[in-house]
Amino acid sequence: MIEQISEFWRSQTSRLMLVYLLIIMVMSISYSLVIYATSASQLERQLPTNGLIEVGQPSGLTGRVGEYLQALVAEGKQELIVRLYVLNLVMLIFGAALSFVLARWTLDPIERNVESQTRFVSDASHELRTPLTAIQTSNEVALRKKKLTLAEARMVIKQNLADVDRLQRLTTTMLELVADDRPLDLSPVHVHDIVSRSLTDIAPRALERQVEIDDQTKNRLVLADMASATQALTILLDNAVKYSPVGQAVVLTTKRPRRGTWAIAVSDRGPGIDKSEQKKIFTRFYRSDQARSRHGSSGGYGLGLEIAQMIARRHGGLIDLRSTVGKGSTFSLVLPAARAKSAASDDASR
Ligand code: ADP
Repeated sequence: MIEQISEFWRSQTSRLMLVYLLIIMVMSISYSLVIYATSASQLERQLPTNGLIEVGQPSGLTGRVGEYLQALVAEGKQELIVRLYVLNLVMLIFGAALSFVLARWTLDPIERNVESQTRFVSDASHELRTPLTAIQTSNEVALRKKKLTLAEARMVIKQNLADVDRLQRLTTTMLELVADDRPLDLSPVHVHDIVSRSLTDIAPRALERQVEIDDQTKNRLVLADMASATQALTILLDNAVKYSPVGQAVVLTTKRPRRGTWAIAVSDRGPGIDKSEQKKIFTRFYRSDQARSRHGSSGGYGLGLEIAQMIARRHGGLIDLRSTVGKGSTFSLVLPAARAKSAASDDASR
């Protein structure tokens, strides 16, 4: 208990709380002084000043009335002082509680931020260490060999380059996460334009995994930043291709989840995601055990969905997930619908 109290006194909360309490008490005492000064002068002004009852007058009716009134004023002042003391005591107790609440209110988001930054640095260091260790080990093994053939040397260099590529991808992704305050260039954009750009990005990967992408989207207009929306959709498509069984198709459709929004839905027939994991996969560096064991570090770093969610939210939208284990998943990029004048004519023409 004593340890907890002394820990509290050393904490940032207690320091900030004392600062707030000091401000509250300075204000309260100053206010009390002003009240006392004005009330005291008002009380004194009640005394008649016609010279009949001035203090020091010879005793008589007027002199006694004067003393009586003086005593009343002094009593009134005493009472005022007592009341102001009580008021400040109450302020001290109430102020302490209020200062504590205010201190926590101020510090909570800062602490959460620092914690998340610390976690990010530690997770990032961990992810960066893996390819660095691989580079170090392969070079050390190669150096220890008495005779290194040209073919072996080429193999080591190839391995090193693959690891450097992984490092580059990771650092680029991390920079994207940190630099999330780039202003969005929002304008009415056709869903087909976003889809076709994403398909171009993802085509080599889909071809490599023999996953067909069936585009059934309708050409709605959304209010989006073309580059960011394309990036978010590419992340969803990349995952769908990555986690789909070879030969299975990934289907793209458009949906209207709510009035004023359009969603581009990416459905796959992959392993699906357990309910208990559906929230976690949107957090930084989270990868399911299955994804780690099947795809290793070549699969990704568990950053993609967080970036996609961040992009969607900055648009005022979200990434919606529907998934059944063993059947597959549908990730939808929900964006605000555009209300451009050309929308009606555009929809009709397509
Ligand atoms: P990663 O680069 O590891 O794919 P993401 O943030 O994009 O990182 O995804 C996080 C995790 O979510 C993945 O490791 C995987 O476990 C799960 N996941 C994402 N998309 C799918 C999908 N289409 N099917 C099944 N699991 C998925």
